[in-house]
Formats: sequence, C-alpha cells, structure tokens
Amino acid sequence: MRPVIGVTCYSGTRGEPAIPYVGVNVAYVRAVERAGGAALLLAPQTRESLRALYDRLDGLLLTGGCDIAPERYGESRRPECQMPQPERDEMELLLVRWALDTALPLLGICRGIQLLNVALGGTLYQDLSSQLPDAARHAYGDAARTLRAHPIAITPGSRLAAILGTREHTVNSLHHQAVARIGDGAVVVARAPDGVIEGIEVSGHPFALAVQFHPEELEGADDPDVGSRRLFRALVDAGLACQRERM
Ligand code: MN
Repeated sequence: MRPVIGVTCYSGTRGEPAIPYVGVNVAYVRAVERAGGAALLLAPQTRESLRALYDRLDGLLLTGGCDIAPERYGESRRPECQMPQPERDEMELLLVRWALDTALPLLGICRGIQLLNVALGGTLYQDLSSQLPDAARHAYGDAARTLRAHPIAITPGSRLAAILGTREHTVNSLHHQAVARIGDGAVVVARAPDGVIEGIEVSGHPFALAVQFHPEELEGADDPDVGSRRLFRALVDAGLACQRERM
C-alpha cells in the first residue's frame, strides 16, 4: 500500500471580506505522489483530531510558508518578521514532537527546517538581510521558484549526502529567515557558501531531515533535479519501512 504522507497546510484568509482558508502549494502533493506516496493534507484542528490523523501517517512533510511566531523561540517579533499564523505553529509543533517521539519519518522544507529547529529548542534569524548583512542573497521570491540560486556544501557521511549522492548541490532559495542557534539533537548537514544553514538532521532518529531550499519545485521543473526527486523518494521509502514495521 502507498505510504500515507501527512502534508501540513498553511492557514490564513482569502478574499475580501476575508474568509478563513487552509491550503498548500500543489507542488508538494505532486512530489509525494511521484515518489510513490499518497499525500494527506493536514489542516489545523483540535489536538484530538490531529492525533487521530497522525496515527494513520507513515511519514510527515513539513511544508514552506510564513514565519514562525518568534515567541516560540523566546524572542519578540522584529519589524521584518511576518505576522504569525498561531494555529499553524501549534499544529506543526505538535506533529513534530510526536514524530520525534514515535520515530515517524519526517522531511522539513523551508519553514519546515525552521520549525524542526524550533521544536528542538533552537532559534532563527528573523530576517537575514537585517541580522546577518554579510550573508548573500537568499530571498529570490521575485524570480522563478526553480531558479538555482546558490550552491550548498553537504557534510560527507550525512544522510543528505547519501540521498543526493554528492557533496555539493545547487539549489533554489526562497527564504528571508534561517536557522540560528541549533536545537538539541540537531546536526548541521548543509551550508551555503556564506555559512547560512541549509540542511539539518536529527541524530538518533531513523529519518528526520530538513532542508532550507524547495526540492518540491526543483523535482517538478522542466529540467527536473534528480537529487530533489531522490529526497522525496527517500521520505516515501522510509514511510514504507515504517508501514511494514507496524503490520
Ligand atoms: Mn538559501
């Protein structure tokens, strides 16, 4: 049976007058399906409902999106930091803690790497250009989402290196925040040339990996990125192993 991968949705409003709305970029769903999984969209709801859904998952995908409320990592919000979506923060922190506790395979993307780091007690740069002015440009929101913006250096021997099969990879970059202080149990496995963290893994967990770039855009590009496809394949394969263990 296809592994069921929970895909977290953003929550916000749409239209005028504003209607509460949840959703996710289709690229995430396509990427999970292409890798052999089935995507189950997860919207903010009660803890009990989330747990009922969680117990049916074989893997978890933390998607990109708006900034996490800085109060979650003990800071007050700087002006450059976006307005938070508290319901989404709450949902994703719960899901990640469960995934860490029960060894559920987990892939974090963009906001997802930041969420994983915060769940482990780490902190974020709320805004790279104001807090780390010497850093290179990472916010390419005005360009094509598939634009290969900068290389990343991948730690030899890491899970990410094994999946991508390389020590350097050129990636897209659609973020203005990044991991600052590393959370407990997280290991840095990729960095941009300016030192900005682009990948972390959780030691002692069978599959908890997160990247700052957007593989869901690269794997579906006109010239698909093989490494990005392998990343989703690795999540689905880990989900399959998890499913078999439970049977
Ligand atoms: Mn970047």
